[in-house]
Amino acid sequence: MNNLIRYSIIEEKNKREFLLLIGSGCKWKKCSFCDYHTDFNKDEEYCYNINEKELNKVTGKYNTLEIVNSGSFVDLDKKTMKKIESVCIEKNINTLHFECHWLHKDKIKDLKEQFNKLGITVKTKIGIESFDYYYRESFLNKGIEEKDINVIKKYFDEVCLLQGLPGQSVEFMLKDIALGLEHFERICINIMVENKTKIKPDPNTIENFIKYIYPIYKDNNRVDILLNNTDFGVGGNKND
Ligand code: SF4
Repeated sequence: MNNLIRYSIIEEKNKREFLLLIGSGCKWKKCSFCDYHTDFNKDEEYCYNINEKELNKVTGKYNTLEIVNSGSFVDLDKKTMKKIESVCIEKNINTLHFECHWLHKDKIKDLKEQFNKLGITVKTKIGIESFDYYYRESFLNKGIEEKDINVIKKYFDEVCLLQGLPGQSVEFMLKDIALGLEHFERICINIMVENKTKIKPDPNTIENFIKYIYPIYKDNNRVDILLNNTDFGVGGNKND
């Protein structure tokens, strides 16, 4: 996991620098489709050393930085958070994106205030995967007990959707995208890829996505589409 590519620059749509940092690990770890929560380490110094090196690559090119860490911002150690603050100030970052699981939603207010004092706007993203509560919680096991989108949007600015799965019709996927765009600033559609879990990408669903949905949203500035989970330029192996 220490060999992962962790820094990239996204040169289209919402242009930003993008970092995959490492933290103490997702506290949920039960999403049925996820095997990337294995990128963690309980040793804070170990994490900080990796994170410091990656944070030092930030140039502030687009004044926007997105940080993910195979979990939530709360899993990052204190020294890393301080380093993020100082890098943002030094490199004139005015917008900072973090991801967060529903479990930690009540920590978001303080996070936003903390960075707001420095003149930095924090945007938070949740992997909602689908707004269909029963599909999401029975099949994907996201651990998001809230059904009401109006409650969810009080905490989060952006959502990730997971598509390309069995049981998703074109209408199902379009509905999730429409809801995401109606209630949130930006959405990121991840297409399921083969991994170590027993959840399989469905070739028919993916074919339908590419044929009927991708053309509609591929140029939409509020929609990121990851046909492969390394499309943001991080997460791949340095030796690949
Ligand atoms: S919350 Fe995110 S990191 Fe944790 S298990 Fe679910 S998808 Fe994986």
